Amino acid sequence: VEGAEISARNIDNLAQHFPLCMQHLHNTLRRDCHLKHYGRLQYTLFLKGIGLNLEECLIFWRTAFKKISDDTFNKEYRYNVRHAYGDVGGDANRRSGGYSPFSCQKILTEHAPGPGEAHGCPFRHFSMDNLTTLLRSAGVSDRAVLQGIQEDKESQKYHMACNRVFEYLHKTELKRAKEEGIFTAVQLETIVHPNEYFKRSYLLKNM
Ligand code: SF4
Repeated sequence: VEGAEISARNIDNLAQHFPLCMQHLHNTLRRDCHLKHYGRLQYTLFLKGIGLNLEECLIFWRTAFKKISDDTFNKEYRYNVRHAYGDVGGDANRRSGGYSPFSCQKILTEHAPGPGEAHGCPFRHFSMDNLTTLLRSAGVSDRAVLQGIQEDKESQKYHMACNRVFEYLHKTELKRAKEEGIFTAVQLETIVHPNEYFKRSYLLKNM
């Protein structure tokens, strides 16, 4: 996003613009100083998608994994981050620049998280109680909104629940953007990708 400082040290600040799936990964990483494999992959690719370069991404993970030595980090984790960016691996991986950030569709349907794993989509993979706790910590405590999210979840409209959260958290900015015609109708279509959530949130909060 133009004008944003996308660096390892600014991720805590940028996390206010993350969708719930990435907020949960971020919070878990800060709490445990660790994430399991799919969590690291989902989060690394999202960070790549917001514009964090490889060097900064390596700094981010190295400093986040506070409890391990440089040696362990270099042996067990560095390669996978570089691989995700297409810095190592076969020719095809290098040519394509590594993997693409995961869409909601992929996160919702592939590799459901098991015990102790923090990846996935909270709207789908959390119980309603845990989802409510996470929503409240993200600033969503309006009863009508929570009720709507519960209904979306029960009818498996997970995107709708996520967009409902987005609309609630950006209601003032969305109103202004619509009134002043800052965003086109296309730019206000339903969000179906975590990176789109971030981009739109950042732009709205920094109009
Ligand atoms: Fe993340 Fe998409 Fe789920 Fe929203 S709907 S929390 S962006 S996976």
